Amino acid sequence: MRLALKKAILNVKPYVPGKPINEVKRELGLKDVIKLASNESPYPPSPKVLKTIQEALPELNRYPDGNCYYLRRKLAENLGVDPRQLLFGNGSDEIIVLAVRGFVNEGDEVVVAEPSFLIYEIASQIAGANIKAVPLKDFYYDLPQMKEAVTKKTKLIFLGNPDNPSGKYFTQSQIEQFLEGIPPSVLVLIDEAYYEYVQADDYVNSLNLLKKYKNILITRTFSKMYGLAGLRIGYGVGNQEMINYLDRLREPFNVNSLAQAAALACLEDKRYYAELLKKINEGRKFLYENLKELGLSYVESFTNFILIKLDKPGASLAAQNLLKKGIIVRDMSAWGLKNYLRITIGTDVENKKLIKALEEIV
Ligand SMILES: *Cc1c(COP(=O)(O)O)cnc(C)c1O
Repeated sequence: MRLALKKAILNVKPYVPGKPINEVKRELGLKDVIKLASNESPYPPSPKVLKTIQEALPELNRYPDGNCYYLRRKLAENLGVDPRQLLFGNGSDEIIVLAVRGFVNEGDEVVVAEPSFLIYEIASQIAGANIKAVPLKDFYYDLPQMKEAVTKKTKLIFLGNPDNPSGKYFTQSQIEQFLEGIPPSVLVLIDEAYYEYVQADDYVNSLNLLKKYKNILITRTFSKMYGLAGLRIGYGVGNQEMINYLDRLREPFNVNSLAQAAALACLEDKRYYAELLKKINEGRKFLYENLKELGLSYVESFTNFILIKLDKPGASLAAQNLLKKGIIVRDMSAWGLKNYLRITIGTDVENKKLIKALEEIV
């Protein structure tokens, strides 16, 4: 007798995360290592957030509030939605997984862009879905082709806005055009993990779309701008009926108590995070200018990360060379982006270190 393994799961290509800093230190015997590989905030959470976490520590013997009561109220007020329109998750990855579990059966179809965030495909493959991958067009979503890809079997469409790894966004009129003609039975998941970074007048106001469309689920996270990647908390916003449906799928205590307290404190410390946004904007500008000076081309980004093209010595060799210098970046070959590196915008010091290292490599 052998265990009956599921074929759909055996077919999944596992997600490979960016290497942790300590692992690289150990393996290469380096003292000074920086990580620009996973689009994390290079800055710690605000002092107020850290204090809140500390104050919550003695209560760790208790289960968390399964309903995220205080965070739910505050966030609903900030977003101008009903508290019952929110679903919290152990990172927004969990919301993505719940959406797939809730709406996708074996043999159904899921439409994604390619390349895009790998979790969309992985979660869908686990459910036994067939993936319809629509290539990006010059790094932008090809929304008309994605709409073309919808069939009677389609249950879910993933739209990253802005997308990872391209860093591009689509506009209000583009999404409105796209949604016209999408059957109301198809869930459209709009992943806004980077929405806090986007500064563009024509960026989608997705919360407004919820008034007209009942088949939209918006996901956001505290992992990026708010610097809580290690605590794991994100959320989905949708219509009440859909959220109530998905809520049945989650585990009762899926969001830990420290994450809840920390996320609430983030929302109450707007000034700190506005400062961080300024620094990221300056960092992006600094990197653009210096990449240009090095003669390297890059993909203009509306997020905290940038794709850099490296024909010489080639992205995978460059990533290895950077690693030896204590800089962890992403070689994007596995995403089908030959000779592209994805780097996260770091602190001043980190950005300078990256540029200096790139100068030595190219
Ligand atoms: C980082 C990221 C997420 C967020 O993941 P969490 O589980 O909230 O940490 C979601 N979508 C995309 C495209 C991302 O890059």
